[in-house]
Amino acid sequence: MQKKHPYLRDKLSIEQRAKFQRGTDVGILAHDYFPGGVDMSPASPSQFPKKVQETMANLDNPNVNVMYEAVFQYNDTLIMLDMLVRDGDRWLAVEVKSSLRLSDTYYNDAALQYYVLHGCQVPLSDFKLMYLNADYVKDGPIDVKQLFKLESVMEYVVEHEDFVAQNVNRLKNVVALPHAPLVDIGTQCHNPYPCDFQGHCWKHVPKNSFLFTTAMDDEILFENYFNGINTNTKILQQLDPDSEEAHQIEALETNSYYIDYKILYSLSPQPKPKSVAYLNLLLHRPAVPEMDGTSPYQEMILAFALQGEHEIGGCSAWDCFEDHSRWNESIDILIEKLSHYELIVCFTPQNLTTTLLRHEIMQNQTVGYKVFNLFDVLQQAHFYHQSIKRGLTLQRLSQALFKDCKLFEHSRIIVEANSNDLISYQQAREDLIAENEVVAKTYQQFFK
Ligand code: SF4
Repeated sequence: MQKKHPYLRDKLSIEQRAKFQRGTDVGILAHDYFPGGVDMSPASPSQFPKKVQETMANLDNPNVNVMYEAVFQYNDTLIMLDMLVRDGDRWLAVEVKSSLRLSDTYYNDAALQYYVLHGCQVPLSDFKLMYLNADYVKDGPIDVKQLFKLESVMEYVVEHEDFVAQNVNRLKNVVALPHAPLVDIGTQCHNPYPCDFQGHCWKHVPKNSFLFTTAMDDEILFENYFNGINTNTKILQQLDPDSEEAHQIEALETNSYYIDYKILYSLSPQPKPKSVAYLNLLLHRPAVPEMDGTSPYQEMILAFALQGEHEIGGCSAWDCFEDHSRWNESIDILIEKLSHYELIVCFTPQNLTTTLLRHEIMQNQTVGYKVFNLFDVLQQAHFYHQSIKRGLTLQRLSQALFKDCKLFEHSRIIVEANSNDLISYQQAREDLIAENEVVAKTYQQFFK
C-alpha cells in the first residue's frame, strides 16, 4: 500500500507526531556522545542515491571518524544508521532509541540494519543500541555519557541475518507486484501496530460492526468474519444473550452505551460525600530530564484544573507551561485546596492516589478525602461504546455520553510538542477545564 497507494495512508495523529518528534530530538542529542561527526541526512528522498555514494566514500576518508544518519543500500534495501563511529580499522554501528528499555522490535530493527551493513561489506567491530538510562539524575548541563546506555546486540543481529534475508526477499516480491496485495482486513490491521491504512481498508465496515467489540479477541472476531458470520445479527445468534459480548453488540446495534449498573452502584462512594471536587492533572514526562534532580521520563505536574464549590467561580486552574522549573509549586497549592473536600473525582488511566502520594500531595491516612477514579470504575462496570474499541479515553467517553460535547484532549500533546507556543498553551488551559467538566458531568450522571 505504501508503495502503490501512499496517498491512501491515514493522516498522522498529533500524538504520533509528538512521539516521532521526541525520537528525533533524543537522536540529535545522542550525537554529542560521539561528537564532531558528518551529518549524512538527505534533504529529500531524491538525494538518497547521492548520499549512499558519499557514505561509501567517507568510509575510506581518514578525516571522517563519525557519520550521523549514514545511508546504505543493499539488495534494494535502504537504511539510515543513527551513528557510525570509526573504531580502529573497523566501525562501531549505533542505533538510538528514546526509551528506557529495549524490546524485540529494536533488536529486529538492528538486525535489518546489520544485514544491509554486512551486505555493503562495512567492517564492523560491534553493533550497539543506545537508550536512556533510568538511573541518570540531571545535575547541571545534560551529561550524555551518563544519560545514555549502550548495549551490544552483535550476537543477535548476526544470528538473525538469515531471517532478515528471507524476509527481505519475500517483501521484494510483494513490492514488485503490479498492484498492492489483495488482502482482506484481519488481525494484521491492529497487530503488532495499528496500520496506517485502516481509513481506506476498513471503510466498507459499518461503524457499529461487531468487529469493534472489545469483549472478544481479534482472532475470534475474524474467524467468525471469514466463516460468513459477518453481521451483528448472525453473531448474536451464536452468543449467550446474557454475555458481555452480546451486551456490547446490542449497544453497537442501538448506537448507545452498555454499563453493568449493578457493579457500578456497588462501587459508588459510601457514605455519600458532602463535598466533591473534580481534579484534572496535566502530567509531563520528558524523555530528557529538564530540571536538576530529575531523571528520564520522570513525572512533573505541569498544570491542573480543580472544579468544586470552594473554588472562586467554581473552578481553579494553575499551570507552569512557560516555566517548567516552577512545577513543584503545584504541590503546596494542591495540598491546601484538596483538603476542603471529602471526595476527589478524576478520570485517568494512571492511579491518581499513587501520583498524589508520589508528589507528597497526599500522605497516607492523614488526609480527609478519598480519590474516586471514574476510569477504573467504568472499566470495572464493563462500560462499552462503539467509540472505545482502541481504549477508554475521556474524549471517547464524552462522545458516548454527551454527543454534543466536543473535547479535543490536545493539551497533553500540544504542550509537549510545542514547548514555546503561547496559543497552544491557551488551548491547553481551555482543554483542561473542558475535560474536567466532562468528568463532573459523568460523575453526576451516574452517582447523583
Ligand atoms: S489496514 Fe489491514 S488490510 Fe489494510 S493495509 Fe493495513 S494491515 Fe493491510
